[in-house]
Amino acid sequence: MKQDFRARQVLGEGGNMKIPFYARYRLGEEKEAVVSCLDKGLDTDGEFSKRAMEQLRKEYPDSFGMLTSSCSVALETALILCGLEHGDEVIVPSYNFPSAANGVLRAGGTPVFCDIDPKTQNISVSDMALKINGRTKAVVLVHYAGVACSMEPLLAVAKEAGLKVIEDGAQGIGAFYHGVPLGAMGDFGCVSFHYTKNISCGEGGLLLCRSEEDYKRGRCYRVHGTNRDAFFQGECDRYTWVCPGSSTAMSELCAALLSSQLSCLEEITRIRKERLEDYLAAFWKVEREGYAKRMGIPEYASPNGHIFYLRFANGILRQRIQALLLEKGVDVKTHYVPLHLSPVGRKLGYGAGDCPESEACGETLLRFPIHTKLTVDQVWEIAKIVEKGCAVS
Ligand SMILES: *Cc1c(COP(=O)(O)O)cnc(C)c1O
Repeated sequence: MKQDFRARQVLGEGGNMKIPFYARYRLGEEKEAVVSCLDKGLDTDGEFSKRAMEQLRKEYPDSFGMLTSSCSVALETALILCGLEHGDEVIVPSYNFPSAANGVLRAGGTPVFCDIDPKTQNISVSDMALKINGRTKAVVLVHYAGVACSMEPLLAVAKEAGLKVIEDGAQGIGAFYHGVPLGAMGDFGCVSFHYTKNISCGEGGLLLCRSEEDYKRGRCYRVHGTNRDAFFQGECDRYTWVCPGSSTAMSELCAALLSSQLSCLEEITRIRKERLEDYLAAFWKVEREGYAKRMGIPEYASPNGHIFYLRFANGILRQRIQALLLEKGVDVKTHYVPLHLSPVGRKLGYGAGDCPESEACGETLLRFPIHTKLTVDQVWEIAKIVEKGCAVS
């Protein structure tokens, strides 16, 4: 029997759920910052944007960064800066949000879907290698759940084939690969400050560039394709149109919120990582009994507790446990429909069987509440419900 979970879909932060899925970390300071921003003015790249960028430079000291209105436009900008031509291909994992694939289309290229590694749900480097041909220009990887991809082999394959590497680190702030922040290893990195992410200003993003030249091109694109930066720095005397562009800067009001959230990055990450460890301990038994596998965290990855998920033994069990938890007031969520099976994916010529691991993941993955208001007792309470529910099957 198909169950309609839409009826129970909770918008906002929690609704009537006993244990909500999201809860934003609030500060008294946030309101003050927004009011002060209203007094000081809404100019793009104003005082609050500068402050947020200074905070972010500490997190990403080796990258050139700019605030954007979302992670999706940061991805789109990165792909446009790759200079794709009609027929050029960009490899994108199928188990993914549509942003990167949309960016490829917007930049004039063709997304090519590849499969994932079932332990981490991150891009399968071996499948990626199989998808490379003479038209392949770039790859967009996702650090799913804030757990780093296997970067060394991936970067080696990309380098050999001459591909640009774009890291979708939307979920990755506060997480690392061998001590390097997610987003700082590819030619470009993108981070999200959407209301569902660890650090949030409602809607917002960050584009990280490895080279200063890409950074300068990105800055022009971001402000309507103009030389606004150079003009304000007194490097030219006319403010004019210099390249194709768009309007993708972060609003100063969002930057005010972002800056106050960023001042708590360490605290937020610490609490989330503690709950992640609690979940891993609490679900050890469920894994041992063979009902589900806990999310895999390779030794090279230092995650940020953005997501905790299980991969159930099969889709029927996942659906039953999901219904049971919602019934008990625990807001749990599945995640992506594999892109190659989506209506757009099918239009691009894909179908069932093309990325089997992504398909299995789409059917068996379940995400659990994780945020700064979640307690260790609640984690164990959730695990008990799942344990009992699995045992009656
Ligand atoms: C959230 C998310 C995005 C989109 O971020 P926005 O800031 O909402 O555009 C893209 N990719 C992944 C993997 C995400 O989790």
